[in-house]
Amino acid sequence: MAVNGVNGVNGTRSKHDFSALKVNQSRLLDAIHSGCEFGAAHRYGDHPTETGMARLSLNDADKQIRDWFIDTTEKLGCKTSVDQMGNLFAVRPGKNSSAPPIMMGSHLDTQPTGGRYDGILGVNAGLEVLKVLHENNVETEGSIGVVNWTNEEGARFPMMAVSSGVWAEAVPLETAWNLAEVSPDEHGHHRTMKEELERIGYMGEQKASYKAFPMAAHFELHIEQGPALEMEKRRVGVVKGVQAFKWFEITVKGRDTHAGTTPFPARMDSMLCAAKLIVESNRIAKEAGGLSTTGILTGQPGSINTMAHTVTFTLDVRHVEDEKLAKIEKECREAFSRIAEKESEKGCKVEWKELVDSPAVNFHPDCIAAVEASAKEVVQDLPMTAEDGELWRYMISGAGHDSCYTNRRCPTSMIFTVTKDGVSHNPQEYCSPEDCAIGAQVLLGAVLRYDKTRTFA
Ligand SMILES: [Zn+2]
Repeated sequence: MAVNGVNGVNGTRSKHDFSALKVNQSRLLDAIHSGCEFGAAHRYGDHPTETGMARLSLNDADKQIRDWFIDTTEKLGCKTSVDQMGNLFAVRPGKNSSAPPIMMGSHLDTQPTGGRYDGILGVNAGLEVLKVLHENNVETEGSIGVVNWTNEEGARFPMMAVSSGVWAEAVPLETAWNLAEVSPDEHGHHRTMKEELERIGYMGEQKASYKAFPMAAHFELHIEQGPALEMEKRRVGVVKGVQAFKWFEITVKGRDTHAGTTPFPARMDSMLCAAKLIVESNRIAKEAGGLSTTGILTGQPGSINTMAHTVTFTLDVRHVEDEKLAKIEKECREAFSRIAEKESEKGCKVEWKELVDSPAVNFHPDCIAAVEASAKEVVQDLPMTAEDGELWRYMISGAGHDSCYTNRRCPTSMIFTVTKDGVSHNPQEYCSPEDCAIGAQVLLGAVLRYDKTRTFA
């Protein structure tokens, strides 16, 4: 449904009706892949774009893509600014240029073995939206911009989405600045975020806060990173929120004794106990419709013919509802005590340390509505592939994003695109050119719809 550039009945529409505006798929893909020359790594095929990425936050390649971002947006007439966390903001003025802008945001940093779409698609789709507005001389009601959040991945400096966290005033600036990189440099020195921001010249003067850079709304396009859209043969996810998760470090204490001379009834085998706890956490989470994962397991002293006296493992538990997550945690705590005391021969001790508590996030209904209306329009002309006749669906994100923090300070929502085999954080991560463009088109429609609803005092 293309409405030609006619003023609406209330006379508030600008010269061009947004449904006639189309993103340029080949320009979008060119931008994605030319930007990926900075930090390309892990070649897996012969085609020039068949590499992954290793653009760790604030490394030299990250500086190059930042320079490119500033150059690109300034050519589009945007005003750019950098805050104390190196967050980059580019704003295209609207009719009212003093009110806070609507921002389209994601991140340009990657995992050490990352791909070309996670975060990168979202920023480039935002840039493509600005290009469409620019070439069509569209005057939006308020300003619209793009933000590149620093160190979203938490791969180099180990705190995910730390810089949107500082912007939201949920993470103290000093805590973020003092984060040391996971892998040291050639001299064995672990550089801090602050050192690296200064080194690459992206320590901005603007305070890293929603008070210094307020936003009217934040929209984030992102690859799904899971298999649901692809499995159901749909094209777009309208993301309503992010599931709750908690991280724990569990320590199991037993006794280190000889593997050949200690009969089972005399054992305090912390490794066997830990194995039972992990299996039990899996059962509990499955029964509750949630998830549980143990990604790290270490045993001391680490000898083939001695029982471990201490085993430490991580436990990541998730559920879309806070109450259900609390129930999973409670049941795990009860079961772990029982198994350690009564079902581990002579018994072991279990200690819990909470590392992260991230409650469920519910995005703003107005932003969700704008994304939904846009998604419905964009998919209506596409070939029907889904069994139930819907090419879009509501989704809850399984992973955390910068949008979790922006949602605390401004209306926010997200858009998901199809991710091949549900694989991300991998060099072969892939979203087809058509699906990248569909996502960008949904972003364009959502932002312009939201812009139309703005009223200025
Ligand atoms: Zn991401």
